[in-house]
Amino acid sequence: MIIVPEREIAGLMTREAAFDAVEKVFAAMASGDAYNFPVIREAIGHEDALYGFKGGFDKAGLTLGLKAGGYWPNNLEKRGLINHQSTVFLFDPDTGKARAMVGGNLLTALRTAAASSVSIRHLARQDAKVIGMIGAGHQAKFQLRAALEQRDFQKVIGWNLHPEMLSNLQEVADEAGLPFEPVELDGMRDADVIISITSSFDAILGADQVGPGTHIACMGTDTKGKQEVDPQLLKKATVFTDEIAQSVSIGEAQHAVAQGLISESDISQLGAVINKTHPGRRSDDEITLFDGTGVGLQDLAVAAAVVDLAVEKGIAIEVDF
Ligand code: NAD
Repeated sequence: MIIVPEREIAGLMTREAAFDAVEKVFAAMASGDAYNFPVIREAIGHEDALYGFKGGFDKAGLTLGLKAGGYWPNNLEKRGLINHQSTVFLFDPDTGKARAMVGGNLLTALRTAAASSVSIRHLARQDAKVIGMIGAGHQAKFQLRAALEQRDFQKVIGWNLHPEMLSNLQEVADEAGLPFEPVELDGMRDADVIISITSSFDAILGADQVGPGTHIACMGTDTKGKQEVDPQLLKKATVFTDEIAQSVSIGEAQHAVAQGLISESDISQLGAVINKTHPGRRSDDEITLFDGTGVGLQDLAVAAAVVDLAVEKGIAIEVDF
């Protein structure tokens, strides 16, 4: 069995490799070659932790496995560890033997950023110039870095409930040599692409605060009850997602579907656009919305890529298991 520890991931995984892995697996999901297993998520009654599994099988990429982990809210304060902890386990689909164990913390941020980035590549207007960020936490920096590679952006604007965190966005804009401007939510009308990545449980962005032709990637809502945008925005937009079953149950679309504003059949898989069985954006005025819920297959795809890179570079740890 191969082990790739968390400490090695930063030196191995690139944004390009994460993008390619996620784009391929979204395509495989849409063509029926890959599927996710039902998600398990449990409050374990110890350390206030939420623990669970996300798994799946990609017949095209021959990736089988699961990501196990969750959220330990006391880690940072009590132990100096990050609160999100996860590990990916890969299995040989021919034999069922354990193939690899891979640190999943950094990979989670990279695969989540790759998902919105894939949506921008396939759905945003080619001439997009202004990117708007809602959220400025840990994931937001990864999201912005990856998104900036997709279009010739000239400016970053941002809003966050906690304004002191906006320096995170400023830092990434500085790295890219772009101006950054904090804005009120009404200012988001100037954005051609918007990414929302918060842990909000109430709508933040109003439907009338999004201009025509905008592409918005809603990335924060990954649990029942969470919400980032006005459900009316989903009625107004053409809605895409990683996986429809998750979109309507734990994704941003859960609210618009529950209110009867849209139905499951109004939501398309982003993979269908990648596979060209869906035309994607049809006009420069259309609002496109990607509901990125986060699927297990994304984790497996980036973990498999990292195992290949670790073997190639001779830094994979091999154990007799
Ligand atoms: P973080 O704790 O570092 O940042 C949280 C962000 O949400 C900050 O910008 C904070 O100001 C904002 N926020 C907190 N409470 C809010 C509220 N009530 N209203 C509006 N904004 C609020 O967290 P993070 O690691 O950046 O994760 C952000 C979100 O992304 C979480 O909800 C997480 O579960 C989700 N996430 C989704 C995926 C996916 O695949 N879709 C993957 C990883 C994380």
